[in-house]
Amino acid sequence: MTGSTEQASLEARHLELCNLIARYDHEYYALDAPSVPDSEYDQVYRALQTLENLHPTLITPDSPTQRVSGSATNAFNSITHRQAMLSLNNAFADSELEAFDKRIREALGLAQVEYAVEPKFDGLAITLTYESGVFTQGATRGDGYKGEDVTHNLRTLRAIPLRLNCQNPPQLLEVRGEVLMLKRDFEKLNQTQSNKGEKQFANPRNAAAGSLRQLDAKITSTRPLTFFAYGLGAAESVPVLSSHSQAMDYLTSLYFPVSSERDTVMGLAGLRAYYQKIGQARDKLTFDIDGVVYKVNAFNQQNELGFVSRAPRWAIAHKFPAQEALTVVEDITVQVGRTGAITPVARLKPVFVGGVTVTNATLHNEDEVRRKDVHVGDTVSVRRAGDVIPEVVNVLTERRPVNARRFEMPTVCPECGSHILKQADEAVARCTGGLFCPAQRKQAITHYASRRAMDIEGLGEKLVDQLVEASLVHTLA
Ligand code: NAD
Repeated sequence: MTGSTEQASLEARHLELCNLIARYDHEYYALDAPSVPDSEYDQVYRALQTLENLHPTLITPDSPTQRVSGSATNAFNSITHRQAMLSLNNAFADSELEAFDKRIREALGLAQVEYAVEPKFDGLAITLTYESGVFTQGATRGDGYKGEDVTHNLRTLRAIPLRLNCQNPPQLLEVRGEVLMLKRDFEKLNQTQSNKGEKQFANPRNAAAGSLRQLDAKITSTRPLTFFAYGLGAAESVPVLSSHSQAMDYLTSLYFPVSSERDTVMGLAGLRAYYQKIGQARDKLTFDIDGVVYKVNAFNQQNELGFVSRAPRWAIAHKFPAQEALTVVEDITVQVGRTGAITPVARLKPVFVGGVTVTNATLHNEDEVRRKDVHVGDTVSVRRAGDVIPEVVNVLTERRPVNARRFEMPTVCPECGSHILKQADEAVARCTGGLFCPAQRKQAITHYASRRAMDIEGLGEKLVDQLVEASLVHTLA
């Protein structure tokens, strides 16, 4: 390749990545309906960063790496933030964390730094303005400089104080934080939406964003949204605060909800220990988090470090392994349950998600396969959180190959050949073989022997499989 054709192909690749990110940003920030999981977005973003690091001349001022993503849509009045609402730099690997701490120590000339540490809420950033102690305005982050005026909608959130809890309120106080939806409220909302035949949300983050960015505040008021504060914006006549942790204590005293998982730690070892601790607690938290955030605690040190174009130098988000990733459906087969329920299962190209390699995901029942429109050959987003069975979240229909195959529910049981029937009042189809069906027999015996039933020690799944397969056991008796 000549120099100029190589340059042209690099520029084309750069443009392609920028365009792809612009599309994902639009779907995520404006439509509240991402088509790809965050892990996919992060991969494309990283590819762009790597390309720009290798060829800095490719960087354009409007590249996603140079600005805060998102925009203020025309649907709401636009508000100019008194102080910019920036993004955060990300660390995925431990080596990136180490590099962050090293940069900070060297810039400050210190052997060890104190950090304020907190969960990274997976919701949407907002700012709340209080004038003389009264809530007067609330806005989304938008592009970091201009956001959307969602004051009316924010007023409907009980977690947000309409008046500050203090005798001598500051003249001006901007509180920064995250609006989110608790996991259980999200499940309930999606169920209600499904019952009403309305759009379901991909995850709690999108449900929160979609609920807050409603033109009719009455709709927002019916949505279970909550809020956590994690920072200050512009402030006038507030008490002297010398650190982030002091600022959080101050916000707590004013009655703002602040994460009870927040802490302060010393140095890299402290950061690592906190990452481990919250990583282990992640599934038990009532809300989604996608990592933890580390902030240099002392405000004078923060000021010394300052900002780069789109993020502070004194903070970093340390991301957890993704709970959602893309893969391909290689087949759809069915499984027979203890009571004969037939469950379609997507057989997947192995994918690392939620900390393990996943090869199967449940599709629940035939209606679910139709609703999600899953075909064999499709690229799908798969979610695995904690010990929950992996499931297909959605299909990327634009990546469907021409030879994709629709799923047909079998009419006879693959295990015993009995008819499969679906009662009109049930969502699931069932094998009618009863204990004649080896799959049902195995599971009935395993269930009978289990701890919560007869508690027969040693009679586990493997032994039952062998006993049934060798035709040694036909009935429970
Ligand atoms: P970010 O979400 O990685 O980090 C910045 C944000 O973190 C802040 O704006 C704030 O809202 C939030 N935050 C949560 N807890 C915080 C805390 N304790 N302290 C400070 N801030 C806290 O950056 P971003 O620019 O908002 O978004 C980029 C990310 O969004 C991507 O990495 C990706 O995960 C996701 N995204 C996904 C898609 C998609 O199509 N799936 C598209 C765009 C963005």
